[in-house]
Amino acid sequence: DNVLLEVRNLKKHYEISQGIFKKSLIVRAVDDISFNVLKGETFALVGESGCGKSTTGKTILRLTDPTDGQVVFDGDDIANLPYNEMRSLRKRMQMIFQDPYASLNPKKTVQQILMEPLRVHKQFDAKDRHQKILNILDIVGLSEEHLERYPHEFSGGQRQRIGIAKAVILQPDFIVADEPVSALDVSVQSQVINLMLDLQKEFGLTYLFISHDLSVIEHMTDRVAVMYLGEIVEVAETEELFANPKHPYTQALISAVPISHPAEERERIILEGDVPSPVNPPPGCSFHTRCPFAMEVCRESAPQPTTFADGHTANCHLYTKKEEETKHVIINS
Ligand code: SF4
Ligand code: MG
Repeated sequence: DNVLLEVRNLKKHYEISQGIFKKSLIVRAVDDISFNVLKGETFALVGESGCGKSTTGKTILRLTDPTDGQVVFDGDDIANLPYNEMRSLRKRMQMIFQDPYASLNPKKTVQQILMEPLRVHKQFDAKDRHQKILNILDIVGLSEEHLERYPHEFSGGQRQRIGIAKAVILQPDFIVADEPVSALDVSVQSQVINLMLDLQKEFGLTYLFISHDLSVIEHMTDRVAVMYLGEIVEVAETEELFANPKHPYTQALISAVPISHPAEERERIILEGDVPSPVNPPPGCSFHTRCPFAMEVCRESAPQPTTFADGHTANCHLYTKKEEETKHVIINS
């Protein structure tokens, strides 16, 4: 079986209170999503900020509890596992953060930072731990001379290398990388991406790669799920998604990516309006308030996935509408 992670009908809703009367509202941060991540692949979650990508990543690692649904990792349903049984799985699942500065303890040296996971998970004896740390530093492009330094003494790129070293030192199978290069200078981004790709080959890692940056996604990932307002609206292999986007939201996102071949000039699709609040998402297709192709049916019923070639699916009425519905006028013009 080639599936490492299976996410089924995952929901993360939480309550906030608003206004002087502290009215309680439900935020539908992740609203019934399903997808599989295959062993050894890089699977991307892409979408605008606030669409639920980070919450999905954290819920999968059980850094926050899901409201409903299953997260099956190598046969175990993490979403419903008692906490004490999570421990051995924690070793196998790690996270790389956008801002390594926030995730690295500023009062600890690199040596202490990298020692901690080895200690917590009781890996190796003292001498071997030191060797393991030197080893991993070398792999991420740092060295022994960095051992006694503190996070603030490093550049952003170097700090992310430390964050990556911390994530891979236990030789995990699966890593959630949440915007791992978004805070870095463009010149440093590709170095860090190449490091992540090298590590993937060397350790057989599987990545869930969360990003709003389609250029990075195109370069780095094997398959993509596009998220909008807590839902997945399209899934495809990366190349297929960029060549043949089906969902109008995906088409708009991709139309905004600068293209390397000017001959393939494409029309930029500008979306009107803001992303609606996840407190009260629009009924029907949640994209209908901004979709250039929205029809009456889109206001009323949520589109189910239509399957195109090779695991390419999109949820959009343009592909499901019946003959009589084709008469429906576009409502956002
Ligand atoms: Fe647009 Fe309707 Fe398709 Fe939603 S279902 S993306 S509103 S055409
Ligand atoms: Mg985020």
